[in-house]
Amino acid sequence: MTRHVAVIGGGIVGTCTAWYLGQHGFEVTVFERRDAVARETSWGNAGVVAPAYVMPWAAPGMPRKVLSYLFAAEAPVLFRPVASAALARWLAAWLGQCTLERYRLNKSRMQRLAFYSRDQLHSLRATLHIDDGMRQGYLQLMRSQQDLAMAAPAIAMLQEAGVPHRLLDAAACRQMEPALSVHTPLAGALHLPQDESASCPAFAQGLADAAIKAGVRFAFGHTVTRIRVEDGRATSLEIERAPGERAPGDPAQAATARQARSERAEHLLQRFDAVVVAGAVDSLPLLAEHRIRLPIWPVKGYSTSLPLPDPALGPRQAMIDEAYKVAITPLPGQIRLAGTAEIGSPRLVPRDAALRTLVKVGRDWFPTAADWASASCWVGARPMTPDGPALLGATPVGGLFINMGHGSTGWAMACGAGKVVADLVAGLRPEIDLDGLTIERLAR
Ligand SMILES: Cc1cc2nc3c(=O)[nH]c(=O)nc-3n(C[C@H](O)[C@H](O)[C@H](O)COP(=O)(O)OP(=O)(O)OC[C@H]3O[C@@H](n4cnc5c(N)ncnc54)[C@H](O)[C@@H]3O)c2cc1C
Repeated sequence: MTRHVAVIGGGIVGTCTAWYLGQHGFEVTVFERRDAVARETSWGNAGVVAPAYVMPWAAPGMPRKVLSYLFAAEAPVLFRPVASAALARWLAAWLGQCTLERYRLNKSRMQRLAFYSRDQLHSLRATLHIDDGMRQGYLQLMRSQQDLAMAAPAIAMLQEAGVPHRLLDAAACRQMEPALSVHTPLAGALHLPQDESASCPAFAQGLADAAIKAGVRFAFGHTVTRIRVEDGRATSLEIERAPGERAPGDPAQAATARQARSERAEHLLQRFDAVVVAGAVDSLPLLAEHRIRLPIWPVKGYSTSLPLPDPALGPRQAMIDEAYKVAITPLPGQIRLAGTAEIGSPRLVPRDAALRTLVKVGRDWFPTAADWASASCWVGARPMTPDGPALLGATPVGGLFINMGHGSTGWAMACGAGKVVADLVAGLRPEIDLDGLTIERLAR
């Protein structure tokens, strides 16, 4: 009988999973190498929860768009090739998904989880009184007719699904967002009134506090180094207990730091009845050791957060500049710009080129909102599958579950994915259809 469940990773996905596992009555321990929840990719994201906007990056026209930006000074996509067979396989799979048919299928799979997740998020926010600074509404800003044309398939799907949305002309858009600069060309905007934005780490912290009160244990500064499998079942974890410093981006420095930490660390072995791996990209090797090779690549993204002294000079709701794929989000006391997809090197080092793009977009739309010259850069790794949807649930190893690959929409998916995976661990039927959201699709 499953009693004690381990969750590897205390990002937004692991934290939500742990909450729902606790609600099912399991004894739950979350192992997180950092010293608090949501300190990696879940920390500096754009904060957007937009089920209506959720879409795979593998879309018709994307390969051409990526190529057209290769040599641009400010670009939504940076391609920094590295010699890696895994990256080559990922890119080949991604290209194969860039057809209209695959796009529609992948988007519908992602949206099924995203809409369910938003319902779970609303229910948790309301019952646990978590204050994450939620703002209602989401605007897709289109600088040109070309941006409008590229949004056409997504708009058609919104219509088919009956999702409330409205195409605005520039004047209506500026009326809705009076601080938008009139000097930047605007062809129109798509308004999604039911989408929203909020602080992902604030929600994760609020949920972790509630989970701790409900009996969930968070073991911070604990790195899981191995999942032990006996007779085809995950039975225990090998763990290093050490200060949860962030690994340096440079691989050589990271190896030295790991070595030093490992020498200081205490080594533990703990038994569990079930294990959920929710540690995003860095937990892939734990699974690969058991021949569970997930096609997830760290597509890096950047953000900058600046004080917003006068909210009237900034956005009222979250928005995205479609041309640059940069989100602009009002957070409590701050304006955040987030975006850029850097495909290639997995090293987490800030890049001037990415910061330039973020600042350009910020200045273009809200020139007086913030001190743009003082912007600095945060970098995170989106755990991306080539087709888009995440991978949830059981693996071929007994008692070993995954909640991985949430890519560019992990905050939007986390509550729903956490509930689905906790239900599966408990042997219950999830409330949504999981077709295309499990490891089974990799075999097809
Ligand atoms: C620039 C940018 C903007 C984004 N904007 C949005 C957005 O607006 N909306 C949205 O929905 N999503 C957005 N995302 C994506 C979203 O942030 C991610 O999908 C999400 O944070 C992934 O959550 P996670 O818990 O899987 O990963 P993480 O937050 O990375 O958490 C994984 C955790 O596991 C821990 N860990 C890993 N291995 C081990 C181990 N062996 N032992 C112990 N601990 C381990 C790590 O320390 C980490 O804390 C954005 C991402 C980026 C980069």
